[in-house]
Amino acid sequence: MPELPEVETTVRGLRPVLEGRRIASIEARRPDLRRALPVDLRQRMTGARVTGIRRRAKYGLIDTDRGDTMIFHLGMSGHWRIDPAELGAHDHLVIDTDEGRRVALNDARRFGSVDAVRTEAIEDWPAIKALGPEPLSPDFNVDTLCAKLAGRKAPIKAMLMDQRVVAGLGNIYVCEALNLARIAPARIAGRISRERLSRLVDAVRKVLTAAIDAGGSTLRDFKAPDGTLGDFPAQYRVYGREGDACPCGGTVKRRAESGRSTFYCPRCQR
Ligand SMILES: [Zn+2]
Repeated sequence: MPELPEVETTVRGLRPVLEGRRIASIEARRPDLRRALPVDLRQRMTGARVTGIRRRAKYGLIDTDRGDTMIFHLGMSGHWRIDPAELGAHDHLVIDTDEGRRVALNDARRFGSVDAVRTEAIEDWPAIKALGPEPLSPDFNVDTLCAKLAGRKAPIKAMLMDQRVVAGLGNIYVCEALNLARIAPARIAGRISRERLSRLVDAVRKVLTAAIDAGGSTLRDFKAPDGTLGDFPAQYRVYGREGDACPCGGTVKRRAESGRSTFYCPRCQR
């Protein structure tokens, strides 16, 4: 599933094609993905100039000079294709620019979404309003994390996956960050020392930054908009590596819970 680094990679890939360009046409080739596409999407976006493309958690935001922002979520399998030679059955939304370039949102499983919101109201949009701080921003730090976790009896892994605690993290990068910070995933969140949480903040940043630098992960065939596959999985310390050696020399274990797998090293993660 695309996580924060994959969405960041996507946003960076779309920028050179869309930023500063006018949307000559936008075509929804089906009425819905996970939910209905906005009925006025074409009317709001056709002729608008793209003023910027950014990311908030796992959402991509395409801002226009009309004060409208198109918000996309990649769901499980979504990715944008740039200048596709031809359109396929899963290219559900197609944007052509005034420069004659084309991007297509391809989403075979259709768990993704597309919405249009007034740019000034983005932070009040329900799915974004509920989000915690961006993990790569200064708002995510040991003070804010301590405050969110104080008194919480849930395992630290569950708390990091909670988008209200920190935005955009999923299973892969949480497993990786906990290993790097040497914290056991089942550790009760509210009882972890400030010093160790400080290490965790650093670990989250390091893991995400390395993943973005590597162009994201290939899990579920994630592709960057230029069609290349990210090579971050080559750097996984524990994720998907049950039985392999942890960098500390211990053996990586896997625990299955509610349909997800937790990968960790019982030797160095306490
Ligand atoms: Zn280890």
